[in-house]
Amino acid sequence: MSTNCEEVWAKCLKIIQENLSKPAFNTWFAPIVPVELKGNLLTIQVQSPFVYEYLEEHYLDLMAMTLHRVIGPDAKLDYRVVVSNDQNIGKEVTYRMPSNGVPKEIPNVSKTISKSVNEPISTYAMPGLKKIQIDPHLNPEYTFDNYVEGECNRLARAAGFAVAGNPAGTSFNPLFIYGGSGLGKTHLANAIGLEVKKNFPDKVVLYVDANKFLTQYMQATRDNNRNDFIHFYQMIDVLILDDVQYFADKQGTQEVFFQIFNHLHQHQKQLILTSDKAPVDLNGMEERLLSRFKWGLAADLQEPDFETRIKILKRKTYKDGIEIKEEILEYIASHVTNNVRELEGTLISLLAQATLNKKEITLELAKGMIDKLVKNTQREISIDYIQKVVCNYFSMSVDVLSSKTRKREIVQARQIAMYFAKNMTKCSLAVIGNAIGNKDHATVLHACKTVNNLIDTDKSFKQDLDEIEKRLKM
Ligand code: ADP
Ligand code: MG
Repeated sequence: MSTNCEEVWAKCLKIIQENLSKPAFNTWFAPIVPVELKGNLLTIQVQSPFVYEYLEEHYLDLMAMTLHRVIGPDAKLDYRVVVSNDQNIGKEVTYRMPSNGVPKEIPNVSKTISKSVNEPISTYAMPGLKKIQIDPHLNPEYTFDNYVEGECNRLARAAGFAVAGNPAGTSFNPLFIYGGSGLGKTHLANAIGLEVKKNFPDKVVLYVDANKFLTQYMQATRDNNRNDFIHFYQMIDVLILDDVQYFADKQGTQEVFFQIFNHLHQHQKQLILTSDKAPVDLNGMEERLLSRFKWGLAADLQEPDFETRIKILKRKTYKDGIEIKEEILEYIASHVTNNVRELEGTLISLLAQATLNKKEITLELAKGMIDKLVKNTQREISIDYIQKVVCNYFSMSVDVLSSKTRKREIVQARQIAMYFAKNMTKCSLAVIGNAIGNKDHATVLHACKTVNNLIDTDKSFKQDLDEIEKRLKM
């Protein structure tokens, strides 16, 4: 059969050669390797996705006519591309030209070729003509179902869900998700990808970490494969680029990504980017790239509130089929506060401890372990932490402490924060004043006096203070 395949391909080449200039033939057709012929389906291997696209764009009719003549009216053509610039993205990519890829009427060749150079591929490529199979590199665990919704992520989650239901069809393009480490950026970005695949199985989705993109690009440049690299990425329908902050100060990579970004955006493809900083705070990034990041929607993920932390813990224990008393979950949720990854980590360590030592999961066990895990990091009470706890207690945002307002509650919260900073940190009055509302040392001193007076005279004030102190020491 293989000889048959080679023979058939040789006949095709002969016809193609007659209709093409020598350089064009040598560039585009000579390197093609015939792979197999099954019935009327011929499979050929081309060097790169770029070659495939070029062939389709410029020589579709010529090939259709040729196949029609050599194989017959039902001829079909399959492409095989070996993407070699990265061991991870697509080992072998198969493109398929369905039977209707061969026009019924064989067009006049010379006329068609000149025409096809000037006209876009869509004239010839019927919808669904190419089917690209690329492993999307998505983590199946990171679904929307497993992504607990809370105040901290509501906007980003909703936007992500909307994008997944209508990729490139919303104004959230790009969707830029940002937030601190361990707050769920990777999980959410993945969930969008999985949801797109669920809704639109034919869409080509690719998740790539910015670091990996960087390495691939450097390798492609070294191997003179820059074009192939670009063309590979330009074929994606939904591109998820995680941790784009790694592009900072990487000029070449920014440049190439700019090119890919523009191409995808212009062709109504969806981009999803994540970053540990908001676009405005990304340093070392070219302005034109930053301005594009702002085209769509930038949605942030914040630290989860207590309720969300509990929900996340419950989801996790439920999923793993473990039962843990509510009070233990509450204890964990009130001590591990600013990072979902650590929250999960704590739970996992607790389970491991209990299993290894064949102990029951008790509050004591949890306390002992959290003391060890969290104490060292969180026991060092910082002015920031104090401001957070105080503001949290009074349900106000930390920003208001530095506002100019003379509102009583705010002035008082600021004074309380200063008081605790004086008593619980080693910072000087000047440093404390500077950090809390940009005040001078005299203001801090005055605050401490005021608070001390109130403790002695106002019972409910004292209760508030005791509660805040308890939370600070938790
Ligand atoms: P980031 O990429 O922002 O550093 P990740 O997406 O890797 O954070 O999240 C860290 C861990 O926390 C992951 O295991 C993830 O599943 C979990 N996680 C984060 N946010 C949520 C959430 N809202 N619901 C459930 N799990 C979450
Ligand atoms: Mg991440």
